[in-house]
Amino acid sequence: MSYARVLCAGLDGVTGELVEVEAMLADGLPGVTVTGLPDSALNEARERVRAAITNSGETWPMRRIIINLYPADLRKRGSGFDLSMALAVLGGTGTLPLAALDGVLVLGELGLDGEVRPVRGVLPMVAAAARAGAVEAVVPTANAAEAALVPGVRVYAADSLAAVTAHIRGITALPDPPPVAGPPAAAELDLADVAGQDMGRLAVEVAAAGGHHLALFGAPGAGKTMLAQRLPSLLPRLDDGAALEVTALHSIAGVLAPGAPLVRRPPYQAPHHTASVAALVGGGSGVPRPGALSLAHRGVLFLDEAPEFTRHALDSLRQPLEDGIITLGRSRGVVAYPARVQLVLAANPCPCARPAGDVACGCTAHTKRRYRGRVSGPLLDRIDIQLELPPLKAAHLFTESAPREPSRTVAARVADARAAAVARWAAELEVRTNAEVPGTVLRRRRWKLPEPVTWELRKRLDQGVLSARGFDRVLRVAWTLGDLAGLDRPGKEEINIALELRRGSWQ
Ligand SMILES: [Zn+2]
Repeated sequence: MSYARVLCAGLDGVTGELVEVEAMLADGLPGVTVTGLPDSALNEARERVRAAITNSGETWPMRRIIINLYPADLRKRGSGFDLSMALAVLGGTGTLPLAALDGVLVLGELGLDGEVRPVRGVLPMVAAAARAGAVEAVVPTANAAEAALVPGVRVYAADSLAAVTAHIRGITALPDPPPVAGPPAAAELDLADVAGQDMGRLAVEVAAAGGHHLALFGAPGAGKTMLAQRLPSLLPRLDDGAALEVTALHSIAGVLAPGAPLVRRPPYQAPHHTASVAALVGGGSGVPRPGALSLAHRGVLFLDEAPEFTRHALDSLRQPLEDGIITLGRSRGVVAYPARVQLVLAANPCPCARPAGDVACGCTAHTKRRYRGRVSGPLLDRIDIQLELPPLKAAHLFTESAPREPSRTVAARVADARAAAVARWAAELEVRTNAEVPGTVLRRRRWKLPEPVTWELRKRLDQGVLSARGFDRVLRVAWTLGDLAGLDRPGKEEINIALELRRGSWQ
């Protein structure tokens, strides 16, 4: 009996897990058995591996072949094991010297003709191999740039099984990964493009500085989408850890463009209201894939026309917004994907979506209330800023006196405000933004604002105009306004502006 072993990897959620692919060739009836909890894709892999080997000028051994994927208890999915299975079989026959592949990670799906095809999740899998001490990886050419993002690993790009065997035999070395493309040349959307809507511009600035979720209501054309699209331009760039995390998620979802660099900008996702729940939060048949929610991790998830989303879709966001993680249950086990997003909801005032004052709008007050009620209270409860944008009048566009601030000016203020918040709360708790500070902490003696400052707020609470949660939300936003103004703590004016930023609140 002969034996060979090749290092491969699978995915457990967003984490790469190393898998050893072993091939044993024994005497007996020719045939292939794959063991180690294979899913249906692995059974198909048998056929692909056999065809790829014979179509690459190699000889398929007429022996009893057992391919085992170890560890057995890891749920292995997908087709990324093909290439390592083919190499293990050839190594088992003794026609391929596998010593050269010691400690080398091998990933790739095989076409019947021996072509090496891209797989999803290469970045986290190579990262796992690097942690385990691997220093080289052979990956599909389309995934090579992504694999090369992992420091300390020499990456080889493979197009075909024949190219890989030639490399192992020392005949022709595999090429290095193609150079990483520069950041996309597309001009970044800038806050300076938004005309009028001073409160709207302030709302996105405060949302960026405090990490607050945001709801914007207003007639079509008021600029809700323009404002939401510009929120990422105000957020800090992703640091190394966050960039790897986000790029890994995009890799697993299969949406990373070949040759794309590390994702450095906070992502922006705007799923349409007709999107399925799976497209929104993740899922799908077989391997659950990250949805828009996880693709927006550490960035912005924008739901335009929020009341048009199904109740089920909106409710499925509640838990992840709380936990920063989405757990997708499947018959084949549970997968968890990071989902720390800043949510921006937008809605028209009424279901007919006609401009404000349009005589053709026959929506009654009741219809409007019902329409808004489709976004549930528990979801709105998590949204600190809820602003109704006035309709944009032509007059606004021509009477603006001060030049509009560009995103980079506002982003600098946002960065300072965020740093101030982190430094302040560090004494008490570890948070990155004011939005994460629990109401109980805000109301502690140490952080309690003087009575004259909160007088207006307490009055509204007593009158029942403001709920207890609403009270905390105004406080949080006021702290962010204070941070933006460079104050030690917010004063009466910040409280008043925070109340203004709740104009049009639905509750
Ligand atoms: Zn209407």
